[in-house]
Amino acid sequence: MSLAAATKYFFEQAAQGLDLEPGVKQMLETPQRELLVQVPLVKEDGTLEVYSGFRVQHNDARGPFKGGFRFHPSVDLDEVRGLAALMTWKCAAVNIPYGGGKGGVAVDPFTLNKRELKQLTRTFVSKIFPIIGQKVDVPAPDVNTNAEVMGWFVDKANELARDDVRGIVTGKPIGIGGSLGRTEATGRGVALTTLRLLKWLGKDPTKMTVAVQGFGNNGSWTAYYLHQAGCRIVAVSDVSGGFGNEEGLDIPAMMEYCKTSDKHLLAGYPDADPISNAELLEGKVDILIPAALENQITKENAARIQAPIVIEAANAPTTPEGDAILNERGITLVPDILANAGGVTVSYFEWVQNLQSFYWDEDTVNTHLTNIMHKAFDDIWNLAKERDLTLRTAAYTIAIERVVEAMKMKGLFV
Ligand code: GLU
Repeated sequence: MSLAAATKYFFEQAAQGLDLEPGVKQMLETPQRELLVQVPLVKEDGTLEVYSGFRVQHNDARGPFKGGFRFHPSVDLDEVRGLAALMTWKCAAVNIPYGGGKGGVAVDPFTLNKRELKQLTRTFVSKIFPIIGQKVDVPAPDVNTNAEVMGWFVDKANELARDDVRGIVTGKPIGIGGSLGRTEATGRGVALTTLRLLKWLGKDPTKMTVAVQGFGNNGSWTAYYLHQAGCRIVAVSDVSGGFGNEEGLDIPAMMEYCKTSDKHLLAGYPDADPISNAELLEGKVDILIPAALENQITKENAARIQAPIVIEAANAPTTPEGDAILNERGITLVPDILANAGGVTVSYFEWVQNLQSFYWDEDTVNTHLTNIMHKAFDDIWNLAKERDLTLRTAAYTIAIERVVEAMKMKGLFV
């Protein structure tokens, strides 16, 4: 099943219980706007490469479209469409005043040097500029894009706008309008969610073993905060391979290692045993955290997952078939639209700071983040208990209700 179809499937599962009019359902299943652009790049060896770029705006009933953009060879319209819808549900699930959007360029950024990547980013900005804006559609980092890329982004946007429009993108470097705590926010939010779940399950974090698939910005900070809370992180991986240690990995040391290693990957990290991706996903741990790409837990491997708890730090790591198998087996799963919402939540704080030109200290950012994540988790947890729903269906239910309410208040249907 394609990613857009999978997102629609999860939406429909919750919509069944909501008695939505067919027309309203159709509006929510279809993006409001989709833009495909050509992104040409003259590389430094003189060759011309032409990449495909995308920005999909799913729904803006609750506020400006919001969502990151990624640089990855697998990016296509279907993927971006699915991820844009996920952003609508995510922002509504944690009750921040945004709709959902997503973007990307189908490129392997590891084949480009920094100057080429900067040029590619600037061209992408100029191509999508007609449909984005501080109060319209606000991009941010996602897979293979980071604060540095957002710095290039805002510079080009300011140039095109002939104005300081720093609120047009979030996840920027601190010196040019970024927020303290934004880099760590997605992982911090995943850890907050995990610890909240353990609290309600009456489990002691210091007795938990954890495997994290992915050691990019999201996975590494997730591992860091759970390690700090006393969990034993026994396996992590990135595109260079898997790394295990039954005694517990030294996560801060691994993060330091990545800062200086080739392509910032874990390859060659000494204090761990090599493990395969399947060993990481199917290993005997208390908590499994997929924090890389989509489609990792599928009908092929879901029956072999041994962890009784799965926290979706990545977007869409579980396919609908995989999800059904995990549910049948009684595995507790915290869905992406709740678990990884910390990133977009601090993007929201960054945007508020940009619009007010008043900057918060890190404690303020983290206190607000904790409050929002705890409230969202507890509302979803309580609804799931009350109506005997999975946490995913409960999260979608709350999100859909909020979006439909906003559409109703705007008179988008009567
Ligand atoms: N890319 C992140 C996500 O999928 C963050 C989006 C944002 O900050 O707008 O939630």
